[in-house]
Amino acid sequence: MKIVVSVDASRCMGTQGCAATAPDIFRLGLDGTSTVIRTRFTAKDLSALREAEEYCPFSAIRVEVLEGGRLVTGSSGRKQDGRGKAAP
Ligand code: SF4
Repeated sequence: MKIVVSVDASRCMGTQGCAATAPDIFRLGLDGTSTVIRTRFTAKDLSALREAEEYCPFSAIRVEVLEGGRLVTGSSGRKQDGRGKAAP
């Protein structure tokens, strides 16, 4: 399992919610926007990542879980059909 986390700097308004929720993962940079400060994540990080993603008021955080190179859950933990589309 690979977890990919990104912050869309064009959407981030620097509210610091993510840095408060997961200070070992997100940090505000000098430009006032959040930055992902780690490159490796484990399943133990998913709860904090999902919380940060869910409560970001500007939907700037994206958390994707890939298995075997295929996207299995995208933003907000929605399951994917393996082709990047939400499964029913
Ligand atoms: S919670 Fe969202 S808007 Fe606030 S700093 Fe983090 S990414 Fe930016």
